[in-house]
Amino acid sequence: MEIVQIEKILYKPQFVPDTGSYIDASPFKHRSRNNPLYECRCQAGSFFNTNSQFKQHCQKKTHKIFLDDYLYYYKDADISKQEIKEYRIENEKLQRKLDKCMGLIRLREQEIAFLNGIQDANVKESDDEFEDASDGIYS
Ligand SMILES: [Zn+2]
Repeated sequence: MEIVQIEKILYKPQFVPDTGSYIDASPFKHRSRNNPLYECRCQAGSFFNTNSQFKQHCQKKTHKIFLDDYLYYYKDADISKQEIKEYRIENEKLQRKLDKCMGLIRLREQEIAFLNGIQDANVKESDDEFEDASDGIYS
């Protein structure tokens, strides 16, 4: 029997800049169905995927303690995760840019090698000409 992996989203309270605190904000629309499954870190096995389940969950004592202590326990970790996500995206973009630049450099190197080849051939030709000319002067 195959185990179906259900994708869970970690619930994060919403930051209120005016008060510098966190409040519960439902990730679901009122009466919406077929929502993704959210997990709350206040207690193992805390899941919800409807607005009413979410509201019920927020009334639990363990959740209220979680919310009060969110700033202290989880804020830094969540910010770090968000930053890592952003850096990965930025890194991917920069990697693509770098690949493009490396391709251009390789192309330019080939052009330079080609042009140096022509120049060497020209120098050899002009050396020949010089030798020819000096023959007349020094002999
Ligand atoms: Zn909770």
